[in-house]
Amino acid sequence: MKERIIVLSDCQSFYASVEKASQPAYLGRPLVVAGDPARRSGIVLAACPLAKARGVTTAEALGEALAKCPDLVVVRPRMQQYIDVSAQITAILRTFSDMVEPYSIDEQFVDITGSLALFGSAEEIAAAMQEQIRTETGVYARIGIGYSKVTAKMACDLWAKKSDNGLFTLSRDLLPSRLWPRPIGDLFMVGRRMAAHFDSMGILTIGQLAEMPLAELKWKMREKFRKRCDIDAELYWRIANGIDDSPVHTDTYDAPPKSVGHQMTLPRDYRSFAEIKVVLLELCELVCRRCRSLGMNGSVVSVGCQGASFEEPTGFSRQTTLPDPCNATNLVYEAAIRLFRLHWDDQPVRRVSVTLSGLSSEMEYQLTLFESRPKYRELERATDLLKSKYGDAIIGRASSFTDSGQLRDRAGKIGGHYK
Ligand SMILES: [Mg+2]
Repeated sequence: MKERIIVLSDCQSFYASVEKASQPAYLGRPLVVAGDPARRSGIVLAACPLAKARGVTTAEALGEALAKCPDLVVVRPRMQQYIDVSAQITAILRTFSDMVEPYSIDEQFVDITGSLALFGSAEEIAAAMQEQIRTETGVYARIGIGYSKVTAKMACDLWAKKSDNGLFTLSRDLLPSRLWPRPIGDLFMVGRRMAAHFDSMGILTIGQLAEMPLAELKWKMREKFRKRCDIDAELYWRIANGIDDSPVHTDTYDAPPKSVGHQMTLPRDYRSFAEIKVVLLELCELVCRRCRSLGMNGSVVSVGCQGASFEEPTGFSRQTTLPDPCNATNLVYEAAIRLFRLHWDDQPVRRVSVTLSGLSSEMEYQLTLFESRPKYRELERATDLLKSKYGDAIIGRASSFTDSGQLRDRAGKIGGHYK
């Protein structure tokens, strides 16, 4: 099989960069995006590089940040804007290859194996992507180039983010000289706790893990954790050796799907229900729009989440059946938050998914009395049409209009975040 070429694009200080690009007056000034600028107790969600250079860090209290940097520009988050710019970047990347997989709000995998003949070398393509993202959105993307998703991800996190031009290629022949001497904690998927476990097993570098016979690693990990963890052992061993066959997932519109789902990796741990609701709404919107474009209704809503820790997995996956099959964002969203509220144990969340299954043709849907569903449908069709014609930014979310109970609040906010 032909060796693949995969890139991972990651935006620098994404939320803060979007804000700086939106206001020429912010240029050259330290800026943070913070929960509530009116309250010094608010939390810094994102800091631009200038603010970081002044000692400001993500997740600290705004009061502390202002003490270090009194001339700090503080803006409140506009989630809708970040979602829109993220979609814009995905669209830019799609002009280079149709195989683009959004990995988080500011990261995308792109398989460019088939693009080389058209656009030049991998490095030239990555530089062109970077340039186009910068001119069209004002955001600086760092791009890792690899021959699998894990090598692209590590090329980006370990080198591209620190290099002058924001690019790095981790080719197969560079693994022993560049990746393997690095501490085990630099390996993708290895957190601080797991790194400590590996250290205690005498595995200090990525190379020590990579060069260990897999059977020996399995045995060592079983001893250490007192349980079978062969799958985990193999996963780490494969990552250290750059082995990863997983494809860049792209939506295919050919056969009617059995389910439509979306998942999102968050830029950091989300701990409050208000924050998680933003993501749930966005996922429900993506899933329902897709169903509407397919002319399908779903009858089963599934919601799942995972924490960031691989060693101590947290999270759940649950489903519920809707009273009537539908593809209305607000109804699926209501079911999703009900499920989440019921099953979430307050653990920090890093990955969230929403799936609609039990799909059937829209033609079969029944009118239910006492519900103004046809109205929702008309409204959603109209907004879908506008969005597909003019882009997502053209109009607010359908559920902001339909959920009259929270209309006033929703007009300015999405799930607690400002638009
Ligand atoms: Mg980033």
